[in-house]
Amino acid sequence: MPTFFEYIDVSLPVPIDRPFTYRLPETLRHRVAPGCRIIVPFGSRKLTGVILRAHNDPPSVTAKEALRLLDAEPVLEEKLLALGRWVADYYCAPLGEVLRSMAPLTGEVRRTRVWALTDKGHSVIRQLLIGEPGNDTAVDLLRLLEQRALSETTLERKFPGAKKLLKSLEKKGLIELEQNLAERDPMRAPAARLRVEFQGRPAEVKLTKQERELVAYLELHPGTHNLEELELLVKGASQAARAMARRNLLILKPEALTADTSWAKPRHDLNPEQQAAYDEIRKALDAHHYQTFLLRGVTGSGKTEVYLSAIEAALQLDRGALLLVPEIALTPAMAGQFHSRFGDQVAILHSAFNDSERAEQWRRLRSGLAKVGVGTRSAVFAPVANLGLIIVDEEHDQSYKQEETPRYNGRDVAIVRAREAKAVVVLGSATPSLESRYNVERGKSRLLELPVRVGDRPMPTVELIDMREEFLETRQNGLFSRKLIEAIGAKIESGEQTVLLMNRRGFSASVACRSCGERVQCVNCAVALTFHRRDNRLLCHYCNFAQRVPQVCPHCGSEHIYFLGSGSEKVEDELHRHLPRARIARLDRDTVTGKNRYEQILGGFREGNYDILVGTQMIAKGHDIPNVTLVGVVSGDIGLAMPDFRSAERAFQLLTQVAGRAGRHSLPGTVLIQTINPDHYAIRCAAEQDFGKFYEKELQFRRLMRYPPFCAMANIVVRAEKQEDALRMSGQIANLLGMPEEGIKVLGPAEAPVPRLKNEFRYQTLIKAISRPKLNELLKCLRQHALDDKWPATALVVDVDPMSLL
Ligand code: ADP
Ligand code: ZN
Ligand code: ZN
Repeated sequence: MPTFFEYIDVSLPVPIDRPFTYRLPETLRHRVAPGCRIIVPFGSRKLTGVILRAHNDPPSVTAKEALRLLDAEPVLEEKLLALGRWVADYYCAPLGEVLRSMAPLTGEVRRTRVWALTDKGHSVIRQLLIGEPGNDTAVDLLRLLEQRALSETTLERKFPGAKKLLKSLEKKGLIELEQNLAERDPMRAPAARLRVEFQGRPAEVKLTKQERELVAYLELHPGTHNLEELELLVKGASQAARAMARRNLLILKPEALTADTSWAKPRHDLNPEQQAAYDEIRKALDAHHYQTFLLRGVTGSGKTEVYLSAIEAALQLDRGALLLVPEIALTPAMAGQFHSRFGDQVAILHSAFNDSERAEQWRRLRSGLAKVGVGTRSAVFAPVANLGLIIVDEEHDQSYKQEETPRYNGRDVAIVRAREAKAVVVLGSATPSLESRYNVERGKSRLLELPVRVGDRPMPTVELIDMREEFLETRQNGLFSRKLIEAIGAKIESGEQTVLLMNRRGFSASVACRSCGERVQCVNCAVALTFHRRDNRLLCHYCNFAQRVPQVCPHCGSEHIYFLGSGSEKVEDELHRHLPRARIARLDRDTVTGKNRYEQILGGFREGNYDILVGTQMIAKGHDIPNVTLVGVVSGDIGLAMPDFRSAERAFQLLTQVAGRAGRHSLPGTVLIQTINPDHYAIRCAAEQDFGKFYEKELQFRRLMRYPPFCAMANIVVRAEKQEDALRMSGQIANLLGMPEEGIKVLGPAEAPVPRLKNEFRYQTLIKAISRPKLNELLKCLRQHALDDKWPATALVVDVDPMSLL
């Protein structure tokens, strides 16, 4: 092997799926290696790509010269490059885009100027202070920026003439221009994301009045503080702290990385069931070969303790470990639990971190300083050295699937990665996905069960309340049955707590016209707008478009507008009416605005500041609050009627998970599920907490209909702003798939269940195949056709193993 290379093949984040060859300048010829990032010219642009190969074979056409090498050492080592190739192939995604989403460092060199909300902007949008009449564009624009910073070009496109508006918002101090998204000063993160550490008043330094006030407060309240919370207590704290941090008078740290060890739980000796599961995992680790386990443990059976012990075992064997958790579960509390057990050996990886935060954690793992990676979906690519164990908690969770290119499932990638690394995988859940459970039958993984709760605590008793009967008896179409209200009232009397699930946010599900029957729809999407009373606005849950409630029907001009259905906001409101003395907290995407709001609300509930916690599916996951003895489900039916073959599975999982929040400690728990489908098997099995029975039923349905796991499936969506373009392209798809081979079934093309989304028309085609390779081949043909026919880059969506068909 020469140590001197003239050429490199580079993978670039472009739709054309092949490597590009570049010539190296003299200075770089002995410094490159596969997996390093490099900046190269591409057309009139400069792109960052990943080197796949360095060589001395002159290409047939003259190669352009590479510009700048970004890494002295590969960011993607050989095995991760190979994993990237697998992902690209299996999910039919361009390799360059896969590699870009794998290496969290790519953003470091992006130099775009983007508009971002200032702290003031964040708090204003939260309170919607600028709801002055005629100012709706400003609100919409701020709402958009609340999700992420955007370039002026993008904003201009969405809001023609935005330039002037941007200037005026900047003057008001609501937004600011960020020179460079990635290399930006971490101190410029929003206050909610920063934590203040103060070591004491430095001698002989001049402080402003604001700074003196801040110092006075910090001296009286030692410890670290979240900057957003400080701002509420000390006026101008955010500005003062930033100014002081610049002079090294105090330290500002990214908040999410500061694990909160006060949540640490005592270490438990494993009970016999946990021990038996652990022993199996340990044996596989010792044997040093690949094995997947499915750990099915009922809610409250102590799965976390098994994970912790397994990670300890891996570390003892001098191997690294990865723990993947669902998006919502990765909180400072959870991080704290791992820190208290494994100290600085833990690196926390969250897709919500900015690039430099992620890069920092990534480096700690790569250098071996940290040996345990804990993170959400994308952490499956973390460079853990000598990987021995991957745990996927709540393996059925939908957040493991990435809903943009590359559309990989972190759980499945984990299995592939482990197989290559000769590592052990543990998939844990109380409600495993059908696919994972079926893999046990197929001998692909081994089942470990924790059939009972720890400490002989009983499972909660579950009762279904038939809301049709309730209506017949009371002649009232209320949100709550008499039984549920009574039960909640009794819990308040006895000082116990209630969790109440309403899996839809907002106040009313939609607004309709009594004259013509039309619902008010989003201008960008073919979906009904949801009424949010706090903002007094109609909101699109798909694209965040917001508008006022119209005075007259936009279709027929009638004044008879009325509100239909209900959401979590209304549940809270009605509950106040029924139980005026109850202290109620609400947890949904409307109340969880900042990074720490989720923790704050949940923490407040845990400390007993509230009697009732109302919320969407957010309240169903993972937490363990001792005093919760009643779980109510306002409508067990939401989701059942979705046009998706997984709707029953989802409903079952959600109901079982939320029921599992009740009676986890010394007090026994009760669950009341209101429903109009009490005979539906998903609801019945959830009520009986019988996973086995649900699995058998659902498997029958899947087998009969040839849905996964009995086929390999892909969803093809064609989208375009003009309907005729979308139609033309989906017509071509129909032609290409016209004469399907044996073992392949094509459904569609047809209008997608949401036929218009974010201003694009959408047509979808489902492909079911008996053979995975055949499916893969077919999908590659489609993609090649899109390239040959010069479709816009975003027009064709290929979703392999789709989790959602909406
Ligand atoms: P799961 O994730 O299976 O629903 P958790 O891991 O949250 O359950 O455990 C439920 C509770 O039981 C937690 O409070 C945990 O600290 C406690 N626990 C776990 N294992 C044991 C044990 N062996 N003995 C006593 N308590 C335990
Ligand atoms: Zn009308
Ligand atoms: Zn919309």
